[in-house]
Amino acid sequence: MKIRLAAPITKDSIVDGPGIRAVIWTQGCPHKCVGCHNPHTHSVDGGFELEVEEVVEQLSKLKLHKGITFSGGEPMDQAAPCTEIAKRAKQKGLDIWLYTGYVFENILCDASAIRPEWRELLQYVDVMIDGPFIEKMKNLLLKFRGSENQRIIDIPKSLAQGKAILFE
Ligand code: SF4
Repeated sequence: MKIRLAAPITKDSIVDGPGIRAVIWTQGCPHKCVGCHNPHTHSVDGGFELEVEEVVEQLSKLKLHKGITFSGGEPMDQAAPCTEIAKRAKQKGLDIWLYTGYVFENILCDASAIRPEWRELLQYVDVMIDGPFIEKMKNLLLKFRGSENQRIIDIPKSLAQGKAILFE
């Protein structure tokens, strides 16, 4: 199985979630937010493909890392390879953060109705930052997110309660 990436994996981020993290930059995004910092990630044909096993191999060399973060681009639109990577990262003791331009309530609804691959991926995600970037709600003081509409959501708790529970 392959994943389409926008850039090589970042190995040592400290701004995409807590601790030292590897960031997987997925290619392709349908949201086209005005003011997006990564417009080169929008095209579904851009970037390059990499075997999931190659990503897993790179992650196996991480040391002192707290987790991995899926960003983009839109990771939810490559749910199957992201699920496999997340599953293998979890086995290594890494936690999983994921940025999406979709809104959690819509993800939850579609996951149970028409996107079973989203349901699968959610099982491995610890924290999701949801919603599009909205330029008029931009706030540079926010930690781990760009605009005030975006939420940092605890996914295991949210799945258990069937509604968005914020990560503390
Ligand atoms: S969801 Fe993220 S990557 Fe996609 S357009 Fe919006 S800000 Fe850019």
